[in-house]
Amino acid sequence: MNLTELYQKALGFHFLTLEEGVLLFKNAPLTELMFVADELRKKQVPHGKVTWQIDRNVNTTNVCIANCKFCNFYRVPGHADAYITDMPTYRKKIAETIKYGGDQLLLQGGHHPELGLDFYTNTFRQIKQEFPAIKLHALGPPEVAHITKLEKSTHREVLTELRKAGLDSLPGAGAEILVDRVRRLISKGKCGAQEWLDIMHEAHNQNITTSATMMFGHVETIEERFEHFIKIRDVQSRKPANAKGFLAFIPWTFQDVDTLLAKIRGVHNLITSEEYIRMIAMSRIMLPNIKNMQASWLTVGKQTAQICLHSGANDFGSIMIEENVVSAAGAPHRFTYKTIQNAILDAGFEPQLRNQQYEWRDIPRAIEEQVVNY
Ligand code: SF4
Repeated sequence: MNLTELYQKALGFHFLTLEEGVLLFKNAPLTELMFVADELRKKQVPHGKVTWQIDRNVNTTNVCIANCKFCNFYRVPGHADAYITDMPTYRKKIAETIKYGGDQLLLQGGHHPELGLDFYTNTFRQIKQEFPAIKLHALGPPEVAHITKLEKSTHREVLTELRKAGLDSLPGAGAEILVDRVRRLISKGKCGAQEWLDIMHEAHNQNITTSATMMFGHVETIEERFEHFIKIRDVQSRKPANAKGFLAFIPWTFQDVDTLLAKIRGVHNLITSEEYIRMIAMSRIMLPNIKNMQASWLTVGKQTAQICLHSGANDFGSIMIEENVVSAAGAPHRFTYKTIQNAILDAGFEPQLRNQQYEWRDIPRAIEEQVVNY
């Protein structure tokens, strides 16, 4: 097929093959790719607003035995800086989250060798008991896999218990690139690609809403990025008809500062703004069965993320009142509830606050703007 035929195929919401996607990514002029992705965005999200969210990334523990080569956040068991977040800390952080207009914790942490299912269900229950309105967008497939292994249980049982304890939705964390060659090089202590996909499928079977991510710009090939797209959309195709499945796709770039990948293997993030914009456009084109595409302003910055809103993205994600994992590897960007809306307006769109289910929220009347130290 030539480029024009591929554009027509994409505009008809047909699944492009891996080869067709790679061909478009490598050969299509940027403006044409942006046009096609923007047309798809208008059809998928006809209200035309750009959604955003207020939540806080809180970490359950920084103890981890997975040893991902791109992670500066974790500490090995017994390390002097190791911590497990306690209830007084959650109380303080949730009170601040509410003050800043947030309705959710993105609650994640390391693969602690001694924290099993009870630890997480007790934590979720206690938070929900004290703060019933706070949503828990928590853990991710690698943590679910780790808990399943510790408990010698099944994904189904672990997800069922987490849901009963207060899990509202499952983030698409730890996907990196869903190809085991890549995972062996950068995150071999984490679950493999198939287990990540199986856990998401099980979550969809239980009608737990999820998101999907891709961290690119390290050791993967272009073809492996497209293998990732196809695996994600296949899981989405298999979700039960009444389940929402993946609500969003969020591609973001590897942050290399002080990581083992950079220091030992000399792997650096060489993704340019243009390449990121092409990846956003290709996300929209390759994943016609996922409605929301999020531009990762945290990793690529405001201006590139604004252009992404004209290249298929319709969502700016959260202002992230707190974020400790990606920031620890160099991501320097910050937004408040005012500056994120200004950025969306400047890009030519109307901002709309949403929750994790992509339902619209009003901005709380009593909201404070946090102080951001750039
Ligand atoms: S990315 Fe997560 S799983 Fe990997 S080392 Fe860091 S905390 Fe552990």
